[in-house]
Amino acid sequence: MQRLNLIIFGPPGAGKDTQVEKILEHFNTDPIETGAIIRDLVKSDTQIARQIKDTIARGDLVNDSIMEAIIKDRLKKVSAQSGLIMDGYPRTIKQAETFNLLLTFMDRKLDYVVFLDVPEDVLVSRLSQRKICSICGKTAFPQEENCSSCGGALEKRIDDNLESIKKRIINYNEKTAPIINFYRKRGLLLHIDGNKSPDEVTKEIFEGLKS
Ligand code: AMP
Repeated sequence: MQRLNLIIFGPPGAGKDTQVEKILEHFNTDPIETGAIIRDLVKSDTQIARQIKDTIARGDLVNDSIMEAIIKDRLKKVSAQSGLIMDGYPRTIKQAETFNLLLTFMDRKLDYVVFLDVPEDVLVSRLSQRKICSICGKTAFPQEENCSSCGGALEKRIDDNLESIKKRIINYNEKTAPIINFYRKRGLLLHIDGNKSPDEVTKEIFEGLKS
């Protein structure tokens, strides 16, 4: 299998988790989902965990230096044989610059940045209905009653309330969206219409990855 290093990128609710699963079926690629790492981290009973929990619940971004420590630690665990798929990182220009340096240290080259483009009204509707598995964290489809992977009970995320959803979309537009041009200038952006069925989006991604 090809060793592919990519970022899957888009606003909250764009469908990144679903597409990561599809990509993993075809490529030997280690998924790094920073939101899931952080949700695990906040389960511990420490002061930093409580601070981060408040940050997430408000819909704000965790600061860049904490993120750098988290990513450095996680990247150390990636095997040399496998590719990388970054889901939820980088989310600021500063993080994108740091990530470039970290890839250089690892002697890796970024192949693609898959940008899932979804209009704001669709995002709000998807996020208001979204549930995740309380055990493995997988995002469920609306019709599911239990997790399709492990059978766990489904629950809402602490940040999937209307106030936090709006804040996350504002933060995305202000702090994260500038990354689109950062990678477009470097010729790495694969712009995908994410407002289609999951299968159609997967098809468009795979066509882009082949070209
Ligand atoms: P997500 O599951 O990707 O929506 O992430 C959930 C929350 O974790 C975000 O709203 C942020 O508070 C935090 N988070 C995840 N990734 C990052 C990142 N790269 N930079 C800053 N905060 C992050």
